[in-house]
Amino acid sequence: MYRPHPFSWIPACGKRHASADTKPLGGYPNGFVVATLCRHQLPADNSDVAWLWETCPECNVKAHELAGIPMPKGGTR
Ligand SMILES: [Zn+2]
Repeated sequence: MYRPHPFSWIPACGKRHASADTKPLGGYPNGFVVATLCRHQLPADNSDVAWLWETCPECNVKAHELAGIPMPKGGTR
C-alpha cells in the first residue's frame, strides 16, 4: 500500500500522535497498541472526538523530520 510518509497519525491518550508502525488496512483498531514517534506505547482511540484532539508536539516535530519538511514558523517545539 502506498504511503506518502513513513508514518501515520493516530489518536491515543488525549493527543494525536504519529507512529511509524505498519497501519492495518482500514486503520488502527480501537485499543491497538502502537509505538508512537514520541517513544510511547499507546492504545489507539478511534472514537469520533479523538480526531479533534491536539497534536502531540513531540510527534509533530519528529513527523516533520521524517517527512523532510521544516517546522512552520511559530510551530510548537
Ligand atoms: Zn506523541
